Amino acid sequence: MIKHLRSAADLDAATATLILDTAGEMAALAGREVKKLPTLRGRTVVNLFYEDSTRTRISFEAAAKRLSADVINFSAKGSSVSKGESLKDTALTLQAMGADAVVIRHPASGAPHRLAAWVDGSVVNAGDGTHEHPTQALLDAYTMRSRLGRLDGLRVAIVGDVLHSRVARSNVLLLTTLGAEITLVGPPTLIPVDIAAALSPKTKVSYDLDSVLPDMDVVMMLRVQTERMQDSYFPSAREYSRRYGLDLARMRKLPEHAIVMHPGPMNRGMEITPEVADSSRSTIVEQVANGVSARMAVLYLLLGGKA
Ligand code: ASP
Repeated sequence: MIKHLRSAADLDAATATLILDTAGEMAALAGREVKKLPTLRGRTVVNLFYEDSTRTRISFEAAAKRLSADVINFSAKGSSVSKGESLKDTALTLQAMGADAVVIRHPASGAPHRLAAWVDGSVVNAGDGTHEHPTQALLDAYTMRSRLGRLDGLRVAIVGDVLHSRVARSNVLLLTTLGAEITLVGPPTLIPVDIAAALSPKTKVSYDLDSVLPDMDVVMMLRVQTERMQDSYFPSAREYSRRYGLDLARMRKLPEHAIVMHPGPMNRGMEITPEVADSSRSTIVEQVANGVSARMAVLYLLLGGKA
């Protein structure tokens, strides 16, 4: 087993499949009255969050607790980080406290790689800048596999603000490893020209959502990340929705079996309409539930597998 999960590229097909299978076993546990496993009793998991998060932080916390680990939540607000303490000094503090795993979210791309050099425990990337979010990709892959039965040969459109999306990057890496075919869709300004080839030579690019939809098994809508935009990448929110938003009329262009995904948080009315988000094709709530199982699998295999 690998020691750290810093990037979806850390996972080969066998390891990724093992994590998804283990997530399936963890999901079975969620249906029981007692949801706890004693597996990580006595181990310490630190959640180190330098950026806002609702579902990811809660999800990791629930995952670690269901495995009986001791959980320390550390957010940059209210800590010495706001007094200017460096990531390295914080890392050394965690090291002194004997953290077995550190789950980190940080605005700087590559922060988990730096951290891994300073602590003895496992490092799990919970989102680093615009770079990667590998556990999101795992929970997305798990959701696709459980809804559609396979990943190999699955046609997946990832739509919208690809430029700023760590979710997109991790998904392309992981899904390609597992045999899916990816098409990135969005306005040219939000799809870096060389991204498809750089991530995977097989990844396609399209600027026309309507023409892509009829061939897809999965359409994954991305949040437009206005907080990371210094320039204007499209004329107006309305114009963006008109061309790249998923509404009911567009959803009907998808094949009957196709599913609609979104990592959250959604800009309802912008990249996705409420009717689509709340429709039976949408897996958005399921993705959140699967997130706990996927993160349990990751913590279990990184820590338990090592013992
Ligand atoms: N929650 C995801 C992330 O942290 C997606 C998003 O923020 O749009 O990357």
